Amino acid sequence: MTCYSCGTTLNQKNRSAEHIIPNAIGGKKKAYNLLCSECNKHYGQTIDQVLANQLGPFGYLLNIPLDRGQHSKAVKLVTASGKGTHYTEEPTNEQYYLAAEGDANPFKVVIDDIDYHRSVAKICLNFYLSKGYPKKYSEKVIAFVKGESKDRIFHYYFPSNEGVHALGEQEVSHIIHLHGDRELGVLYAYIELFNMQNLIIIFSYDYDGNDLNVTYCRDVVKNVELTKTIRLGLVRHHVESLRYTSAAMGRKMEVRLERLIHIINKAQLSN
Ligand SMILES: [Zn+2]
Repeated sequence: MTCYSCGTTLNQKNRSAEHIIPNAIGGKKKAYNLLCSECNKHYGQTIDQVLANQLGPFGYLLNIPLDRGQHSKAVKLVTASGKGTHYTEEPTNEQYYLAAEGDANPFKVVIDDIDYHRSVAKICLNFYLSKGYPKKYSEKVIAFVKGESKDRIFHYYFPSNEGVHALGEQEVSHIIHLHGDRELGVLYAYIELFNMQNLIIIFSYDYDGNDLNVTYCRDVVKNVELTKTIRLGLVRHHVESLRYTSAAMGRKMEVRLERLIHIINKAQLSN
């Protein structure tokens, strides 16, 4: 076994416990055959820190359990009125991280941050490789995670939840779904973080491995893994035609963000 980032042979001394999904956003599952401790540390301090800065506040607001350390208190609830719920950085930075209503640019920090997308891609890569699937189909994702390639292998994708999976009323989960289709020659991952950062990560358009249909789901509030069936049914030309535009993303993500904020507000009221 070698570290997928630097290629070093992994042994008892240099292997590391890599969270498939960063613990900062509620990930618990670990794998020991992915990264050497040095690379693990490097990503933890760089791209995963970007992800934690963006999404960690949701974990803080939902009070989800962490393995160790404390939630980033980078944001706090500043208003919860009829105008919508806003969160902002403490103590003086006025830049909005999140905005349900009344902000023209919700998630503006997330949208343009390539390191954020690298970290999301890394979650999908971790899951794929932890399952022991062939590394050769993940080379593009590895290059993207390492920052060697800026190819747009990610697309925001917001199908209606009802059509893809049954989302429980109070469920707040992270979902990773791998779909490999030998006949269509496509391998991709579909990921949902807090059920509102929904992306497709393209692994390969030359896929000739086994058909894959594997899903991992963790409810981060209830702190349990859920059995989840994902039905995407994306054919290759559909995947290829997915385009990211901030307008489309803003509209479609807003509905999911509002749902999450509603759950957060309910949880805070009952505390
Ligand atoms: Zn390494």
